[in-house]
Amino acid sequence: MFDLTTRDIKYLTGVGPQRAAILNKEVGIYSLHDLLYYFPYKYVDRSRIYTIREIDGSMPYIQLKGEILSFESVGEGRQHRLIAHFSDGTGIIDLVWFQGIKYVLGKYKVHQEYIIFGKPTVFNGRFNIAHPDVDAAAEVKPSAMGMRPYYNTTEKMKRSSLNSHVIEKMMASVVQLLREPLPETLSPAILAANRLMPLTEALINIHFPGNADLLRRAQYRLKFEELFYVQLNILRYARDRQRRYRGFVFGKVGDIFNTFYTRNLPFALTGAQKRVLKEIRYDLGSGRQMNRLLQGDVGSGKTLVALMTMLIALDNRYQACLMAPTEILANQHYDTIRELLYGMDVRVELLTGSVKGKRRQAILDGLLTGEVDILIGTHAVIEDTVNFASLGLVVIDEQHRFGVAQRAKLWTKNVQPPHVLVMTATPIPRTLAMTLYGDLDVSVIDELPPGRKPIATLHQFDSHRESLYRSVRKQIAEGRQVYIVYPLIKESEKIDLKNLEEGYQHVCEAFPDCTVCKVHGQMKPAEKDAEMQRFVSGEAQIMVATTVIEVGVNVPNASVMIIENAERFGLSQLHQLRGRVGRGADQSYCILVTGYKLSEDTRKRIEIMVRTNDGFEIAEADLKLRGPGDLEGTQQSGIAFDLKIADIARDGQLLQHVREVAQRVVDADPEGTLPENEVLWRQLKLLRKTNVNWAAIS
Ligand code: ADP
Ligand code: MG
Repeated sequence: MFDLTTRDIKYLTGVGPQRAAILNKEVGIYSLHDLLYYFPYKYVDRSRIYTIREIDGSMPYIQLKGEILSFESVGEGRQHRLIAHFSDGTGIIDLVWFQGIKYVLGKYKVHQEYIIFGKPTVFNGRFNIAHPDVDAAAEVKPSAMGMRPYYNTTEKMKRSSLNSHVIEKMMASVVQLLREPLPETLSPAILAANRLMPLTEALINIHFPGNADLLRRAQYRLKFEELFYVQLNILRYARDRQRRYRGFVFGKVGDIFNTFYTRNLPFALTGAQKRVLKEIRYDLGSGRQMNRLLQGDVGSGKTLVALMTMLIALDNRYQACLMAPTEILANQHYDTIRELLYGMDVRVELLTGSVKGKRRQAILDGLLTGEVDILIGTHAVIEDTVNFASLGLVVIDEQHRFGVAQRAKLWTKNVQPPHVLVMTATPIPRTLAMTLYGDLDVSVIDELPPGRKPIATLHQFDSHRESLYRSVRKQIAEGRQVYIVYPLIKESEKIDLKNLEEGYQHVCEAFPDCTVCKVHGQMKPAEKDAEMQRFVSGEAQIMVATTVIEVGVNVPNASVMIIENAERFGLSQLHQLRGRVGRGADQSYCILVTGYKLSEDTRKRIEIMVRTNDGFEIAEADLKLRGPGDLEGTQQSGIAFDLKIADIARDGQLLQHVREVAQRVVDADPEGTLPENEVLWRQLKLLRKTNVNWAAIS
């Protein structure tokens, strides 16, 4: 069978071992097949040639035809550049190179006709094009002048003159081979039902589109296929799991739940909380093992839902466990839950790294005998020494800090895997959740408890610090507390810590009557906890901190969140930080402090933050601005995100559709044995073999 995967890229005309090595290393292209799946990132219509006289300052990429009059070498050191004065008879424009000067001088000659392509800009009152594409006019065939593909290249590739142009030429020779079609990778039924372009035709048109319509159909086909196999992989996995494990049946809601509901619950549940509890109760009684993702914005009351779910487990004579990502959070959950269960006969224990010796042993013993009903803790709870009498439910808070592997480890804590409820306050757009957590069902708390005043978010330039501090003083005079957050990232840790330190000094001077505490990740845990405690207890009115406070901390009296250098935070991070305030009944404020000079992206981020408090809207916007690869949680999720052509932010509708198609395949063919689907299962197997991340979820 015609197979391009076995053809080494180095044997392609014009490649050879040296360039092949660079292609291997830089972009993972080893075979002709890999090359063919290296898709263009854009297409430019090159059917039109402009004249130099027409050029104005606001043009996108354009094409000119003319000759180089002379070369000129200008500047020294880093300013050094080569200028070619280029004319088409209507005017002169400068072509400029900062790198690869020797190559340019060796290759291009004066008084020969070239077609050049690039984006004109103005410098010192003259038009110029930096690093243009240059082709001998005689070589460019008029028929090839339509939509031309552009390929991403790295610096290293460019240095070996593996630019977009050269890749295009390589691609053209591979496409020549496709006169013999490649084996189809989707089934005839799916191709027909979705009116998809055949594979080979799609691959030809994705690189060399015959016209805009063919390009659109090629893109659709390839995106469809890419998303289809991601979904088929997840759904088949979910199906296998369902068949392999039965779930504990929590058939009843009993005394513990009801006592809590009628006696202890300090307020009425919100509509969203009720709905989600119903979804959970249905799962727990179904005989299937629950794997549910509970999404809810910060402060939406997830903890309460988790607790009530745990009480259902207890009512059915099972134990429950709640796992939090940090010790501070575990402590806080422990305190909250003990308080909520006050007066009830439920034994709750806390297990973290700092619980040691006899105390630890007593908890471990209690878990084995079944005397401990609810265990709350950090990663410590998944250690091998922790064993339960009958663990029936695991709640994982703040999912993004735990990977799939850790989730899986919890399953081994009982002969049958316990039900799993994963809570996250980082709202994930539905489309992304479906891909990321495709094996999880999703519940959403989309309503905040009543009486909350929406947080007012303001943008301030750092030059207006005095007026900012005046309003802060007013808040403190009214008894409120204030967070001031500084960015801290690994790459600039030293400078960041210095900034934080200076900020702290500055705040101490500006607020001489206040107690100021300081928390950052480089402190020893005990020291950090002590400082945090000073804020929680109300002794300190101001807390200067890095993003260590991002997750979960609950101080209802804190009403002001000041974020310094807000331009350095991502959207979802800003939103998480903002969620630390607005937890009490008072009007809360979030102030984003930046310098004057802001990039377009930053301006957008700030504008969104000021406009809305809706975590889902922010998550969608974040996804659009950053792309899914950077989204929090995706790295550790264990699911591939190197989508080549589909874009989760833009192709949500297609994803939804494709998921349904994949679901129907899995439903109709649970054993994977129907002959008409053979091509699908074979292709999935192949993809799982070549995609390490995919194989990880089996
Ligand atoms: P999340 O974990 O979703 O960020 P929490 O569970 O910490 O939110 O809840 C935030 C606050 O709202 C807590 O102080 C909690 O007691 C309170 N709360 C939860 N549910 C309700 C409700 N239905 N009515 C009023 N207050 C609630
Ligand atoms: Mg919480």
